[in-house]
Amino acid sequence: MEIKVNTGILSANEQKAVENRSLFEKDRVFTINIMGSPGSGKTTVLEKTIDILTGTVRLAVIEGDIYTSKDARRIEKHGVPVEQINTGGACHLDAKMVSGVLNKFDLTGLDLMIIENVGNLVCPVEFDLGEDLKIAVLSITEGDDKPMKYPLLFRESGAVILNKMDILEFTDVDLQALRQDIYIINPDIKIFEVSARTGQGIDQWADWLTDRVNNKLKEKTAK
Ligand code: MG
Ligand code: ZN
Repeated sequence: MEIKVNTGILSANEQKAVENRSLFEKDRVFTINIMGSPGSGKTTVLEKTIDILTGTVRLAVIEGDIYTSKDARRIEKHGVPVEQINTGGACHLDAKMVSGVLNKFDLTGLDLMIIENVGNLVCPVEFDLGEDLKIAVLSITEGDDKPMKYPLLFRESGAVILNKMDILEFTDVDLQALRQDIYIINPDIKIFEVSARTGQGIDQWADWLTDRVNNKLKEKTAK
Protein backbone atom coordinates (compact mmCIF):
# COMPACT_ATOMS: atom_id res chain seq x y z
CA MET A 1 0.00 0.00 0.00
CA GLU A 2 2.68 2.45 1.09
CA ILE A 3 4.82 1.44 -1.87
CA LYS A 4 1.97 2.26 -4.24
CA VAL A 5 1.63 5.77 -2.77
CA ASN A 6 5.38 6.37 -3.12
CA THR A 7 5.36 5.18 -6.72
CA GLY A 8 2.58 7.67 -7.48
CA ILE A 9 4.57 10.57 -6.05
CA LEU A 10 7.70 9.62 -7.94
CA SER A 11 5.98 9.23 -11.26
CA ALA A 12 4.32 12.66 -10.91
CA ASN A 13 7.80 14.06 -10.29
CA GLU A 14 9.19 12.06 -13.19
CA GLN A 15 6.55 13.52 -15.46
CA LYS A 16 7.41 17.09 -14.46
CA ALA A 17 11.13 16.29 -14.84
CA VAL A 18 10.52 15.13 -18.40
CA GLU A 19 8.78 18.46 -19.15
CA ASN A 20 11.65 20.45 -17.61
CA ARG A 21 14.20 18.39 -19.52
CA SER A 22 12.44 19.03 -22.83
CA LEU A 23 12.45 22.80 -22.13
CA PHE A 24 16.19 22.69 -21.43
CA GLU A 25 16.72 20.48 -24.50
CA LYS A 26 14.79 22.81 -26.77
CA ASP A 27 17.30 25.61 -26.13
CA ARG A 28 20.25 23.27 -25.48
CA VAL A 29 20.75 24.58 -21.95
CA PHE A 30 23.11 22.28 -20.07
CA THR A 31 21.70 21.83 -16.57
CA ILE A 32 23.38 20.67 -13.38
CA ASN A 33 21.87 19.84 -9.98
CA ILE A 34 24.34 20.49 -7.15
CA MET A 35 23.80 18.54 -3.96
CA GLY A 36 25.56 18.17 -0.63
CA SER A 37 25.25 18.73 3.12
CA PRO A 38 24.54 22.10 4.69
CA GLY A 39 27.90 23.81 5.09
CA SER A 40 29.72 21.68 2.50
CA GLY A 41 30.36 24.86 0.52
CA LYS A 42 27.97 24.48 -2.42
CA THR A 43 27.30 28.21 -2.68
CA THR A 44 30.95 29.20 -2.30
CA VAL A 45 31.98 26.69 -4.98
CA LEU A 46 29.25 28.14 -7.15
CA GLU A 47 30.42 31.73 -6.60
CA LYS A 48 33.98 30.84 -7.58
CA THR A 49 32.73 28.86 -10.59
CA ILE A 50 30.55 31.74 -11.79
CA ASP A 51 33.50 34.14 -11.64
CA ILE A 52 35.56 31.83 -13.86
CA LEU A 53 32.77 31.10 -16.36
CA THR A 54 31.51 34.69 -16.70
CA GLY A 55 32.33 35.97 -20.18
CA THR A 56 32.55 32.52 -21.77
CA VAL A 57 29.40 30.72 -20.60
CA ARG A 58 25.98 32.37 -20.32
CA LEU A 59 24.59 30.97 -17.10
CA ALA A 60 21.77 31.36 -14.61
CA VAL A 61 21.15 29.93 -11.16
CA ILE A 62 18.19 28.46 -9.30
CA GLU A 63 18.71 28.48 -5.55
CA GLY A 64 16.86 25.98 -3.37
CA ASP A 65 16.51 26.81 0.30
CA ILE A 66 14.03 25.84 2.98
CA TYR A 67 13.23 29.39 4.17
CA THR A 68 15.78 32.07 3.29
CA SER A 69 17.16 33.77 0.20
CA LYS A 70 20.64 34.31 1.66
CA ASP A 71 22.34 32.20 -1.03
CA ALA A 72 20.40 33.85 -3.88
CA ARG A 73 21.55 37.27 -2.64
CA ARG A 74 25.14 36.07 -2.65
CA ILE A 75 24.79 34.80 -6.24
CA GLU A 76 23.06 37.99 -7.38
CA LYS A 77 26.20 39.98 -6.54
CA HIS A 78 28.05 38.04 -9.26
CA GLY A 79 25.79 39.55 -11.91
CA VAL A 80 23.96 36.46 -13.13
CA PRO A 81 20.21 35.85 -13.26
CA VAL A 82 19.06 33.98 -10.16
CA GLU A 83 15.70 32.73 -8.91
CA GLN A 84 15.02 31.58 -5.37
CA ILE A 85 12.83 28.61 -4.52
CA ASN A 86 11.78 28.37 -0.87
CA THR A 87 10.55 24.89 -0.16
CA GLY A 88 8.74 26.02 3.02
CA GLY A 89 9.95 23.09 5.08
CA ALA A 90 10.67 20.46 2.43
CA CYS A 91 14.23 19.13 2.58
CA HIS A 92 14.71 18.80 -1.20
CA LEU A 93 13.71 20.39 -4.51
CA ASP A 94 11.30 18.60 -6.78
CA ALA A 95 10.68 19.00 -10.51
CA LYS A 96 7.46 20.94 -9.99
CA MET A 97 9.22 23.60 -7.90
CA VAL A 98 11.86 24.02 -10.62
CA SER A 99 9.17 24.16 -13.30
CA GLY A 100 7.52 26.99 -11.34
CA VAL A 101 10.48 29.35 -11.86
CA LEU A 102 11.62 28.35 -15.36
CA ASN A 103 9.40 30.95 -17.05
CA LYS A 104 11.34 33.70 -15.23
CA PHE A 105 14.41 32.94 -17.37
CA ASP A 106 15.12 33.56 -21.04
CA LEU A 107 16.36 30.03 -21.77
CA THR A 108 17.20 30.89 -25.38
CA GLY A 109 19.95 33.19 -24.08
CA LEU A 110 21.49 30.61 -21.74
CA ASP A 111 24.14 27.91 -22.09
CA LEU A 112 24.12 26.63 -18.50
CA MET A 113 21.55 26.39 -15.71
CA ILE A 114 22.90 25.65 -12.27
CA ILE A 115 20.48 24.41 -9.63
CA GLU A 116 21.69 24.46 -6.04
CA ASN A 117 19.59 21.99 -4.11
CA VAL A 118 18.60 22.18 -0.45
CA GLY A 119 21.51 21.18 1.81
CA ASN A 120 20.92 17.49 2.46
CA LEU A 121 22.90 14.33 1.63
CA VAL A 122 19.89 12.05 1.52
CA CYS A 123 16.68 12.71 -0.40
CA PRO A 124 17.47 15.42 -3.01
CA VAL A 125 19.14 12.78 -5.18
CA GLU A 126 15.87 10.83 -5.35
CA PHE A 127 14.14 13.65 -7.24
CA ASP A 128 14.95 14.13 -10.91
CA LEU A 129 14.63 17.83 -11.74
CA GLY A 130 15.25 17.44 -15.47
CA GLU A 131 18.98 18.09 -15.19
CA ASP A 132 21.73 16.67 -17.41
CA LEU A 133 24.08 15.97 -14.55
CA LYS A 134 24.06 15.62 -10.80
CA ILE A 135 27.07 17.02 -8.93
CA ALA A 136 27.98 16.14 -5.34
CA VAL A 137 29.82 18.55 -3.07
CA LEU A 138 31.46 16.91 -0.06
CA SER A 139 33.69 18.83 2.29
CA ILE A 140 36.71 17.19 3.83
CA THR A 141 35.43 18.21 7.30
CA GLU A 142 32.42 15.89 6.96
CA GLY A 143 34.66 12.84 7.31
CA ASP A 144 35.76 10.07 4.97
CA ASP A 145 32.88 7.73 5.88
CA LYS A 146 30.17 9.73 4.10
CA PRO A 147 30.24 8.15 0.61
CA MET A 148 29.70 4.65 2.02
CA LYS A 149 26.99 5.94 4.38
CA TYR A 150 25.15 7.90 1.67
CA PRO A 151 26.08 6.00 -1.51
CA LEU A 152 23.15 6.98 -3.73
CA LEU A 153 24.30 10.57 -4.22
CA PHE A 154 27.76 9.38 -5.27
CA ARG A 155 26.37 6.63 -7.49
CA GLU A 156 24.13 9.08 -9.36
CA SER A 157 26.59 11.97 -9.67
CA GLY A 158 28.84 12.65 -12.65
CA ALA A 159 31.37 14.45 -10.49
CA VAL A 160 32.16 14.99 -6.85
CA ILE A 161 33.78 18.16 -5.63
CA LEU A 162 35.86 17.50 -2.51
CA ASN A 163 35.86 20.92 -0.91
CA LYS A 164 37.92 22.51 1.89
CA MET A 165 41.08 20.70 0.79
CA ASP A 166 43.07 23.62 2.24
CA ILE A 167 42.34 22.32 5.75
CA LEU A 168 42.93 18.62 5.06
CA GLU A 169 45.95 18.54 7.36
CA PHE A 170 43.79 19.58 10.32
CA THR A 171 41.42 16.64 9.88
CA ASP A 172 41.74 12.89 10.40
CA VAL A 173 40.47 12.22 6.89
CA ASP A 174 42.22 9.46 4.95
CA LEU A 175 42.07 11.01 1.47
CA GLN A 176 43.16 7.83 -0.32
CA ALA A 177 40.47 5.79 1.45
CA LEU A 178 37.89 8.46 0.70
CA ARG A 179 38.77 8.49 -3.01
CA GLN A 180 38.78 4.69 -3.11
CA ASP A 181 35.32 4.47 -1.53
CA ILE A 182 33.93 6.96 -4.03
CA TYR A 183 35.35 4.95 -6.96
CA ILE A 184 33.97 1.70 -5.51
CA ILE A 185 30.51 3.26 -5.49
CA ASN A 186 30.92 4.88 -8.91
CA PRO A 187 33.98 3.95 -11.03
CA ASP A 188 33.09 6.56 -13.69
CA ILE A 189 32.81 9.56 -11.39
CA LYS A 190 35.19 12.53 -11.73
CA ILE A 191 36.74 13.71 -8.47
CA PHE A 192 37.86 17.33 -8.10
CA GLU A 193 39.90 18.29 -5.05
CA VAL A 194 39.24 21.96 -4.44
CA SER A 195 39.19 24.73 -1.92
CA ALA A 196 36.50 27.25 -2.75
CA ARG A 197 38.05 29.51 -0.11
CA THR A 198 41.54 29.64 -1.66
CA GLY A 199 40.44 28.87 -5.23
CA GLN A 200 42.65 25.76 -5.40
CA GLY A 201 41.38 23.25 -7.99
CA ILE A 202 38.40 25.35 -9.08
CA ASP A 203 39.92 25.94 -12.55
CA GLN A 204 40.05 22.21 -13.31
CA TRP A 205 36.43 21.78 -12.28
CA ALA A 206 35.34 24.85 -14.26
CA ASP A 207 37.21 23.60 -17.39
CA TRP A 208 35.56 20.19 -17.14
CA LEU A 209 32.13 21.81 -16.76
CA THR A 210 32.79 24.18 -19.68
CA ASP A 211 33.65 21.17 -21.90
CA ARG A 212 30.29 19.63 -21.08
CA VAL A 213 28.46 22.87 -21.80
CA ASN A 214 30.30 23.20 -25.14
CA ASN A 215 29.38 19.64 -26.13
CA LYS A 216 25.75 20.57 -25.70
CA LEU A 217 26.25 23.79 -27.69
CA LYS A 218 27.75 21.78 -30.55
CA GLU A 219 24.49 19.83 -30.67
CA LYS A 220 22.72 23.22 -30.93
CA THR A 221 24.89 24.32 -33.87
CA ALA A 222 24.47 20.95 -35.59
CA LYS A 223 20.67 21.29 -35.55
MG1 MG B 1 24.15 27.16 -0.16
ZN1 ZN C 1 13.69 15.71 1.29
